[in-house]
Amino acid sequence: MKGISRRDFMKLCAGSVAAVSLSQALMPELARAVPAAGNPPVLWIQGASCTGCSISLLNSAQPGVKEILTEIISLKFHPNVSAAAGDLAMKVIEETESAGKFYLVVEGAVPTKDGGIYCTVGERDGKEITFLDRVKELGSKADAVLAVGTCSAFGGIPAAKPNPTGCKSVSEVFNEAGIKTPVINIAGCPPHPDWIIGSLAHVLLFNEIPELDQTGRPKVFYGKVVHENCPRRQYFDASKFARNFSEEGCLLEIGCKGPLAHCDSFDRQWNNGTNWCIKAGAPCIACTEKGFPGCAVPFYERMEGVPLPNITASADAVGGVLGAAVVAGIGAHLIGNLATGRLGKKDKEG
Ligand code: SF4
Ligand code: SF4
Repeated sequence: MKGISRRDFMKLCAGSVAAVSLSQALMPELARAVPAAGNPPVLWIQGASCTGCSISLLNSAQPGVKEILTEIISLKFHPNVSAAAGDLAMKVIEETESAGKFYLVVEGAVPTKDGGIYCTVGERDGKEITFLDRVKELGSKADAVLAVGTCSAFGGIPAAKPNPTGCKSVSEVFNEAGIKTPVINIAGCPPHPDWIIGSLAHVLLFNEIPELDQTGRPKVFYGKVVHENCPRRQYFDASKFARNFSEEGCLLEIGCKGPLAHCDSFDRQWNNGTNWCIKAGAPCIACTEKGFPGCAVPFYERMEGVPLPNITASADAVGGVLGAAVVAGIGAHLIGNLATGRLGKKDKEG
């Protein structure tokens, strides 16, 4: 039977909102496509993380997520849901690794200081195996790696200053070790379930890595700037700013980092289309960005470098100002963070 075309798949991913979850929409396609090649084995390992990315996915009310995890892929190991524990669970990891074809999901940053001793996963011959070694060993043999969550994708909160355990992203670890396995960065703190399932589905359906942006995130989910698509944008254009969390208006003055942030929450929304950060009155904290949280702190203070629009400007002129404003905002804020030491020393400390 003919499967879904790439074009239709991309349309589905980009357009899946509220009424039909992406996992629900993809379920029939995956059910048709995947059994031909057998259920792909997936190992999900956790390092320096709060488990929030797993919980975001596993607690999802979205129809289809559970079926995809239990019926489409063969989730061989997951620290929170695997029935096996201890030696038995470690044996499953090693058997999957030796069997060859598998996908690796990494949740959490990788502690590298002091040989990576601050996070271990199981033992071999009575000796603890560091998460760092697991990521390198499994990562070099996997067909592809999904770095789920900003910790795994970019270092995130565990790598924030002063980063006492020398946490790094999966890509940094791979680059240093010369590992060439493709990595898909599914950023977010946590990522939306659709971003995880959609990226996994792309790999399974087309046996290829989705088109990524320059920070390794799938463009289909991270290709848009929040500020350019924000429903409060009219307030920004009219210079009407909220001074408190429950007020009407643009949230810039109370810390919104939407001009820095790339995601599609404004369209997709969370919890089956119930709501999303800015609609709920919470300033965007740019949780999907490389450099988070350093690039977004202080969370509830106005970011530097976003020129306010001229309220008499035409819509076209405002659009032109915005393009420059986003760039200027990112540049000035990052320069500010570098100048104050909030960013840039991570590697030296690592
Ligand atoms: S600053 Fe934030 S609240 Fe204001 S328009 Fe931009 S994204 Fe929306
Ligand atoms: S709107 Fe901002 S805080 Fe919310 S998910 Fe997107 S990047 Fe993260």
